[in-house]
Amino acid sequence: MKKLTNEIKCTFLSKSENEALARSIISGFLLPLDPDVEELADIRCAVSEAVTNCIVHAYRDKIGTITLIARCYEDKTLRIIVADKGCGIEDVAKARAPLFTTCPDEDRCGMGFSIMESFSDRLSVYSKPRKGTR
Ligand code: ATP
Ligand code: MG
Repeated sequence: MKKLTNEIKCTFLSKSENEALARSIISGFLLPLDPDVEELADIRCAVSEAVTNCIVHAYRDKIGTITLIARCYEDKTLRIIVADKGCGIEDVAKARAPLFTTCPDEDRCGMGFSIMESFSDRLSVYSKPRKGTR
């Protein structure tokens, strides 16, 4: 088991202004790890895509809670979890495919999961319809 060196957990409402808040929180968490500009930008972007999905898809016409957890280990591995208790995803494999979106008429281009994947070493998506997504 890798040794945990730091951890944060915070919960906030699925309001659009909290997308910028999530980016600031993750930046603050990463700062002591001395990331370079590119690493910081990539991680901020991945978190932003995940949180935006909770805001626009999970809680479509309502406000719910989003949980952001970040953990860092002694080998400098970083694990980030973004979780909602929203509508969930019927077919995760389909949702993860590049250019797949359920909202083409809302200027969505279906690239969120692909961006998260390209900016991380590994992306896992767990989801249950009507229970939420992590
Ligand atoms: P973009 O991210 O490019 O603006 P998008 O959000 O549609 O477009 P993805 O982020 O790749 O694209 O997500 C693909 C699809 O997966 C979404 O259209 C939505 O149907 C579903 N989805 C993604 N995240 C969630 C979530 N947290 N809860 C429910 N459905 C989700
Ligand atoms: Mg998206």
